[in-house]
Amino acid sequence: MRPVSRRSLLRTALTGAAGIAAGVAGSREVSDWFGWDRPPVRGGYAAAADDLSAVQHADVAIRYRVDTTQQLVAFTFDDGPAPKWTPMVLDALDAAGVPATFFMVGQNLEKHAGLLRGRMARHEIGNHSWSHADLATLDLQQVSRELERTHEAIQRHTGRTPTLMRPPFGHLGGSTVLAAAKMGYTVALWSEAMHEFRYKDDPGAQARYIVDAVRPGTIVLAHDEGDDRRLVTVRGLPAMFDGLRRRGFRFVTVSELLASATVPPSATASPSGPAVASQKPLPG
Ligand SMILES: [Zn+2]
Repeated sequence: MRPVSRRSLLRTALTGAAGIAAGVAGSREVSDWFGWDRPPVRGGYAAAADDLSAVQHADVAIRYRVDTTQQLVAFTFDDGPAPKWTPMVLDALDAAGVPATFFMVGQNLEKHAGLLRGRMARHEIGNHSWSHADLATLDLQQVSRELERTHEAIQRHTGRTPTLMRPPFGHLGGSTVLAAAKMGYTVALWSEAMHEFRYKDDPGAQARYIVDAVRPGTIVLAHDEGDDRRLVTVRGLPAMFDGLRRRGFRFVTVSELLASATVPPSATASPSGPAVASQKPLPG
């Protein structure tokens, strides 16, 4: 049987979801259709399908992790920049020489861009919306506005053009998929996360959990904004970096991790033999 790549499965699932949304656009029955999932939000579902050309051409990658044979891991920090934790996180990354990816909230960047000055050279910046709204409750126009304002702020403050977005709460609606597709974004979610309630007084235990849990291609979710419980993560970072290096892991940005993806076997299968997985080289 011909193997089906995870990517093509995901794409099929997305196309199907967009088709369902298109089919019920304008219907008064939307709340009945989707009532099992979450309370319906006026405008959100119908508006997601308003632009049918976007539905037809939507081809957006959504990544929880990356299939790679290389010992690579990407740490991500969401919701900043903000004075409380962002400088401490940058200090820990600098001390260990670790690159990371920061999914920034546009209105925080607007206020606190000064915290980043001269400190982002090795790091990647992604779009985490303007106001940290639940984008799945917004229509296409509203989602586009959230992402475009942040996109513009990142360009203006850092001179970078982001290629990754992460929806707040990891909550992904059809309008967000379309907005991401239109803006050329890859949606980057995560496959491991800090457990700050479980390990609130024990940075060592938090670190051991992450060191054990990481696999090649893992994307780790952390935060550089939020309440006091974030401290367990910030204090645990040096031990996480040490422990993962001891396991042979190398730290990369999310874009570098994506570039390390092993080509799906179906793409390199030959009729005369088994599929041979090959790798794209890492940039830089
Ligand atoms: Zn967030």
